[in-house]
Amino acid sequence: MRIDKLLANMGYGTRKEVKTLLKGGNVRVNGQAEKSPKTHVDPDEDSVTVMGEEVEYREFIYLMMNKPGDLISATEDAHETTVIDILQPEDHVFDPFPVGRLDKDTEGLLLITNDGQLAHKLTSPKKKVGKTYYAIIDGKVTEEDVVKFSNGVTLDDGYHTKPGELTILKSGEESEIELTITEGKFHQVKRMFESVNKSVIYLKRIKMGVLELDPELELGEYRELTDEEIEYLL
Ligand code: URA
Repeated sequence: MRIDKLLANMGYGTRKEVKTLLKGGNVRVNGQAEKSPKTHVDPDEDSVTVMGEEVEYREFIYLMMNKPGDLISATEDAHETTVIDILQPEDHVFDPFPVGRLDKDTEGLLLITNDGQLAHKLTSPKKKVGKTYYAIIDGKVTEEDVVKFSNGVTLDDGYHTKPGELTILKSGEESEIELTITEGKFHQVKRMFESVNKSVIYLKRIKMGVLELDPELELGEYRELTDEEIEYLL
């Protein structure tokens, strides 16, 4: 990889700024001053320092956000604030994007990364990765609904969903449930409940595959995944 690209990727400035940094003799590769932006380095083999400080190269970023109910899960939007807008400047360097979509009013676990392969693995219905939601439902959720969901339900557009695993936490005028599904159709959880004549009052994603929402994260907060979490996901 070209050294100017590596340094720009790691947040040392634009390509132009990095060029100036190099010209000024501030960058060393394996101890030798390096002035040409065209020089190739191997991030795994070569030691690169900027003003004496070792550059830690990495390609991917993996963030877990507890999405609040007033942000949209897109990278940019002309009118609304997105989950990417609230990231720290140093995280923007990686061009991250949200993995899958949560509705604006849905809270909870959102993975943000620039690892397209992982995003595909987590969202492709073929991979059958479970996404678990906690919801408050207007209406009495019954064992009949559990059976219906386990056989898949027909949505308003005629699509018959894959089986969903519904667990009733509290059944009453207002019910509390957990639902695990392996697809991500538009408004899927809300529409699954509409198919049994109930509506979702509150929706929060709590799990995606093996990844669980960190209870320490307040709404709008995010953190990097631990090495262990990344290893489990990949
Ligand atoms: N299902 C929904 O209805 N909304 C979401 O945000 C996620 C799943």
